[in-house]
Amino acid sequence: MMSGSLLVVSGPSGSGKSSLCEKLCEDFDFAHLSVSTTTRTARIGEQEGKDYFFTSKEAFSDAVERGEFLEWANVHNNYYGTSRSRVESELKEGKTVVFDIDVQGQASIVKLFANVTTSVFVTAPSNAILKERLEKRGADDPEAIRKRLENALDEMQSIGAYDYLLINDSFEKSLETLKALALASRIKRDKVELRKFIAEWLS
Ligand code: 5GP
Repeated sequence: MMSGSLLVVSGPSGSGKSSLCEKLCEDFDFAHLSVSTTTRTARIGEQEGKDYFFTSKEAFSDAVERGEFLEWANVHNNYYGTSRSRVESELKEGKTVVFDIDVQGQASIVKLFANVTTSVFVTAPSNAILKERLEKRGADDPEAIRKRLENALDEMQSIGAYDYLLINDSFEKSLETLKALALASRIKRDKVELRKFIAEWLS
């Protein structure tokens, strides 16, 4: 009878949210990462189907036309979309689907599935620490880093739309907190289900 839950994790690039989501899904069998489709080129080490499904702008807009995405957005001049079919089937199977998506994606998912969605905004302790992490990562040139930091400030304006704010100053501690949130997301129940639950509980 129990259906699954959705855990949306957003935050600036360099906040550590992707590593946290990955480890969460490794440690909890019930948690599955939603793999997005993107038009951005793969970074070194990124794998097709694991990190993203990499595609062209044309193929992406065709998929949009066919209604294949639950939500999609333009982030840093690239397109990103969440595939609909997999999320819907995993939710039915009782999984916790974990989304590593931006603030636009969070707003869309909350609108579609408010009752089963828990959202958490992850950020570095400060702008300076975020900058340092992005530079250390070495994945972006200075211009791209400047853009990502600018975008981070923008994204921070949306913290109020999230259920939780996680300041990632220690990976291990943050992981523990995220695990607690993933478990809690599974016992968040909407009113219709509650009525059904009470009827079943009484019979
Ligand atoms: P990156 O290029 O660093 O992998 O991701 C850039 C941003 O796009 C991140 O904030 C990431 O969470 C977001 N993102 C990744 N996939 C999706 C998606 O399917 N939908 C939305 N709305 N954002 C996404």
